[in-house]
Amino acid sequence: MKKLLPIFLLFAATAFAQEIHTPPEKNNFTKATSYDELSAFIRQLDQASEMLTLEIIGKSVQGRNLYAMKFSTGDFGKDHSKIKVLIFAQQHGNEQSGKEGALLLAKALLKPENKYLFDRIDLVIIPQINPDGSEANQRRNGHEADLNRNHVIMTEPETMALHKLFDRYLFEVTMDVHEYYPYDENWMKHGYRKNTEITLGVTTNTNVSSKIRKLSNEKALPFLHKNLGNCGFSSFVYCPGGPPDINYIRHSTFDINDGRQSLGIQNTLSFIQEGMNGTDSFIENLKRRAEGQMTGMMGLIKYSYKNYRKIKKMVADERATLILGKSNPQVSIQSEHVASGKKLELPVLSLKTGSDSVITVSDYRPVVKSLCDVAKPEGYLIPKTSKPLVDWVGRQSVEVLPYNNQDNFKIEQYFISKVDSIDFEGDIVANPTLETREIRLTVKEEDYLFIPTAQLKGNLIVIALESKSMLGLATYKDFYYLLKKGENFPVLRVVKSGN
Ligand SMILES: [Zn+2]
Repeated sequence: MKKLLPIFLLFAATAFAQEIHTPPEKNNFTKATSYDELSAFIRQLDQASEMLTLEIIGKSVQGRNLYAMKFSTGDFGKDHSKIKVLIFAQQHGNEQSGKEGALLLAKALLKPENKYLFDRIDLVIIPQINPDGSEANQRRNGHEADLNRNHVIMTEPETMALHKLFDRYLFEVTMDVHEYYPYDENWMKHGYRKNTEITLGVTTNTNVSSKIRKLSNEKALPFLHKNLGNCGFSSFVYCPGGPPDINYIRHSTFDINDGRQSLGIQNTLSFIQEGMNGTDSFIENLKRRAEGQMTGMMGLIKYSYKNYRKIKKMVADERATLILGKSNPQVSIQSEHVASGKKLELPVLSLKTGSDSVITVSDYRPVVKSLCDVAKPEGYLIPKTSKPLVDWVGRQSVEVLPYNNQDNFKIEQYFISKVDSIDFEGDIVANPTLETREIRLTVKEEDYLFIPTAQLKGNLIVIALESKSMLGLATYKDFYYLLKKGENFPVLRVVKSGN
């Protein structure tokens, strides 16, 4: 419980919060907020508000604090009637406007007129999950790792801290805030570039609950776009790829190794937001870009407020099916984007005329189609001697049980007869040919860890551990050793007899 302050002190604190300015507000947006400035600013907000608690959720590679700003009118996460929302920015250190938008948002939320939001919401804002990258204005973290490709293999302290926080509170709604880069040479060569201030994407991996994907696409996204439009910001659907003269445009991506989908795969209402990057300098238009990012995030908070009961119920129901192992009995492990027949009217800036224009993209592929499904097993057996796998299980904090063989269980092993590679939309990944064999355990039960699929991370586990998964561990360098021609895949499948 928060301490009760005398009325006059509360009033003084609220008034104080309104006079606090973010660092770029003080320097007229001529400079992005440094790590030291950010630390000082959020501490100042914390002192000014009873509603805000700061938590250091971890340290970056170079030892900087990873701050979570927790907003709640009570004890964070304790009031189960509230919806929990998580917004995190700047996984990519050279995408400064997400952080600046998050700081503006934190300040705005402490205004008295926004206090009502916290009658229904407990909110965490992580303004900067990659402080090392931010200080160097570089995409990657202090280990030269791309954090937004790290959520499956989970080797970096920053991604681990984020997921640890998620695992603790199981937020129903999340948003991962980025920037997109419209100044790509290929686009410029064709005489135009993308020109939307904000783009928004939802979870698209087909293993995510279809109800959640439908709600995201049909209700949440229109609300968010409308909110941005009402506030004077242009917005469009997140659609990587192109330029359309030489390449197709996809609707999003479906890998679960990024911030959005790694949370989405746990049946979370999860979004990505991307603001437009500056041209040659990251401070160009920084004020406008930060305000756009803030407005998008605020839209998500308002949507969550308005629909909190519905979202909470849907997420709870869809997570329960995962936890009971009763969600999708087939898990997609290879997919591609395909056309729907719909053309995309893409807003662009014509470089010739310098004005806004629209081009019609005929090769638009908005639909994710599964190319290969596997039946979800009861679980997987991991040999305790396989240190990289055992360590991975620890980093992902998935539930592990001791294995007791049961009469109605059988064990399947993959024999790898051939390993080809296959091109998935520009990513070359291994594509093994397998023979599935039923085996008897020739070693002791205690030599294995049993990873049940009946848990919140059940779909993530299948995608990570299946040998033929295009998004699986075997596609990461540290785990190439899992796929060897003429050998058995070390991870075993435990299935019910009769399946
Ligand atoms: Zn990014």
